[in-house]
Amino acid sequence: RFKAILIERDASGCTQARVGTLGRDDLPEGDVHVRVGWSTVNYKDALALTGRLPSMRSFPMVPGIDLAGEVIDSAHPDYAAGDRVLLNGWGVGERHFGGLAQQARVRGDWLVPLPDAFDARTAMAIGTAGYTAMLCVQALEHQGVDPEDGEILVTGASGGVGSVATALLARRGYRVVAVTGKRDEHGYLKALGATEVLERTAFSEPGRPLASERWAGAVDSVGSHTLANVLAATRYGGVVAACGLAQGMDLPMTVAPFILRGVTLVGIDSVMCPATRRLAAWAALAAEFDTRWLDAMATDIGLGDAIDVAPQVLAGRVRGRLVVDVNR
Ligand code: NAP
Repeated sequence: RFKAILIERDASGCTQARVGTLGRDDLPEGDVHVRVGWSTVNYKDALALTGRLPSMRSFPMVPGIDLAGEVIDSAHPDYAAGDRVLLNGWGVGERHFGGLAQQARVRGDWLVPLPDAFDARTAMAIGTAGYTAMLCVQALEHQGVDPEDGEILVTGASGGVGSVATALLARRGYRVVAVTGKRDEHGYLKALGATEVLERTAFSEPGRPLASERWAGAVDSVGSHTLANVLAATRYGGVVAACGLAQGMDLPMTVAPFILRGVTLVGIDSVMCPATRRLAAWAALAAEFDTRWLDAMATDIGLGDAIDVAPQVLAGRVRGRLVVDVNR
């Protein structure tokens, strides 16, 4: 038997997370059986661990939208015992038993070969948050944004997506302006490459339909008024990649930035993202992600700690990435 976090729901509809044990036969259908080494706690995992993830409707469920480890056995033509693999999304950890466990059974089509540049811990320190940050960076460039165009704003900058986006954009030669609600993390964001750090409160309240043009592009993991204000201050022809809802799911704004300044809003989804785009994102991470960034960005925790830390993630109190050693 092996250890797993189990999310259970009682008769009154309350959910509870605990560390329990499962046997191989408890695992769902899938053609690849994986020995998980590392997983992570993303924002969505924190929602799941606190019983606030609407897409989780079947119980018990094993959370964990990310996993990295080694294939135990496989009936999938692309994978064999011993292969090093990682997985992000596809509903794993929401509708299919996930990565916050010592073993998982998944569809081989969902797996990504672990890039040679990374060990399992590093891949999970990057995780869905980092892979999504790369999808955002690639989307900006796909839309024609170039380091010569001007400043790029990153919101929720000290969080997982924001930290990785800040570092990746700075490395690509962009001038990155980071927005954070954490007064103590200005030095952290500058060390990752931000040229300037702005206070979150300047973005989080209702603003005007259009503001002075400043941003050539932006990566937003916050949504709501923050995204509306970012779009209102995006320069003519600028591009904003939106991937998150840490402030809220709403988007209270006018069409002014789109019809008067030709601003492009690009939606980023990591969960159902086609395999070719995932592989391209992971290949780019393998080439560009400097593992020394993790000294400041990543905190290792044990399996049970994931449950305790989830409320702090939702409160926006965690810096960077939480990496889960499922054997600890
Ligand atoms: P995270 O590590 O918890 O980071 C979120 C950051 O947002 C926080 O660290 C905080 O940064 C900021 N924040 C938190 N609450 C806020 C509030 N009320 N108002 C304004 N800012 C707030 O989460 P993550 O894993 O990076 O994910 C970030 C967001 O992206 C989440 O909404 C997540 O669901 C979403 N996401 C989406 C995809 C996708 O496929 N579309 C993939 C990954 C993540 P500061 O303290 O620095 O301001």
